[in-house]
Parts: sequence; C-alpha cells; structure tokens
Amino acid sequence: MKVAQLGSGTPEIAVVGGIHGDEPCGVRAIERLLDENPTVERPVKLVVVNEEALERQVRFVDEDLNRAFPGAPNAKTHEGRLADRLVEELEGCLSFSMHSTQSHAEPFAIVNEVTETAKEICPQLPVQAMVETSNFAEGRLFSEIQTIEVECGLQGSETAAQNADRLTRAFLTAVGALPGDTVGRDLPVYRLVECIHKDRADTYEVFVENFTEVDPGDAFAAADGQKQVANEPFYPVLMSSNGYQDVFGYAAEKLDVLTDSSTAD
Ligand SMILES: [Zn+2]
Repeated sequence: MKVAQLGSGTPEIAVVGGIHGDEPCGVRAIERLLDENPTVERPVKLVVVNEEALERQVRFVDEDLNRAFPGAPNAKTHEGRLADRLVEELEGCLSFSMHSTQSHAEPFAIVNEVTETAKEICPQLPVQAMVETSNFAEGRLFSEIQTIEVECGLQGSETAAQNADRLTRAFLTAVGALPGDTVGRDLPVYRLVECIHKDRADTYEVFVENFTEVDPGDAFAAADGQKQVANEPFYPVLMSSNGYQDVFGYAAEKLDVLTDSSTAD
C-alpha cells in the first residue's frame, strides 16, 4: 500500500485507487495528482491500495478486498490484512474510492447510504447516477469508512482513466481542497434491491441497458440461451454478461432525483 499526501496537516479527505488490481484508472489519477502536486487549500491523503494485485494485473491476490472489510491484522489473506491497514489509514477521512466495471461506460457514484454529505457532493461530480447499496454493503470499504465510490468507466480503458482524473478533480473541488467551482447537475438516485443470479453456463447474454427501466414480461438476460424474464419492473445496475462469476448484476428501484444545492443559493 502506498500512502502520500498533498498539503500539510492532518487530512480529513482521502482519494483511494487500486482497491482492485485490475482497475488501473484510479491509480493513474492519483499518480497524475502526485506529478502535478497542485497547491491545495486543505490536506488530502492519497492511497494506492493493492500494489501486489496491481503489479500482477489481477483483481485480488487471495480474496476480493472490497468484500474483506474490516479485516484483521493477523488475517490469513493478503486482502484481509490490507483491509485492516486501510481502515486504520483512512480513519476520520471522507474517502473517495475509484473503481471501474465491465458493465457500464458512463461514470456513476455508489454510496452506502444517502447521507447529507453524499447529497451535497455527488450532484457536483460528473456522474450519471447515484446508487445506494444499503443491503449489499457487507465487507465493503464504506461499511467502515465514510466513502463515496465512483465507477469511472470500462475496466482498462483510456476513457476510464480520463474520467477518474475528472472525477477526482471535481471531488477535490467540491470538498474545497482545490480552488474553483464545480458544475452541478440533477442526479437520479437508485437503491439496489436484489441480486440477479446467473446459473452456470457457457454463454451469457444481457439484453437491457443499465439505469433504463425493464418492464414486466421483458427478457433481460440469458444463460446458454435460457431467457430470464422480469416479473416486476426494475432498473438494472452493474449488469453485464461476464462481469461477476455468479451474478449478472443488480435490480434497483429509483428513489429520487437530487438537484445540486451548491449552485441554488
Ligand atoms: Zn473495483
């Protein structure tokens, strides 16, 4: 784990990349910040987390780090020990953690809960939506540390790296670490309600777009040609044919549309 800092004093904000070793976008955004070394109005902690997995270009060494929190100092797995060290490092910080997916190119934010902080900051980020994971937060960083996660785009793409850079700057501006103004936008909020399982098969297909409502009776995915049909309407989130081993993604409900409060007054 690599820890660095912009500015002096004790940071209350942190930018985190490389929770997953096969998602280099956030690491590149952090390296760029370190290269540029901008003058900050409040100190910022920068953390590149799973260096071993990044070096091997794999998601993890022993287990998924974002399911391993809180971890323990003497955990049996590399990620179990790393989780414990990261929690200690991020104690007291609002953290901004960057990820990328195989399911969706457009950036979106993921939060544990729709808190006042999330409501204030997320509409100032260049994201399409905010997703509340509520029931699916177990073992994730934000179950321990106040965190805004962002999905920056498609794993390994140049666009995801550019998005990570833009998102980081917007976050640091929104929290007053970088000077200037953010661009506010209306932001739809979704809550994950159900995991969409997939059976073991050779080929998987997904027929729907993330964040676009699926109607009852619509086929939304198939495993070896066997179609799965919606009983009730839902919004697909993180749906992809080959992203996760045993789930297609999640079914979400739409909660609200937030408007950017920072530009309203
Ligand atoms: Zn990730």
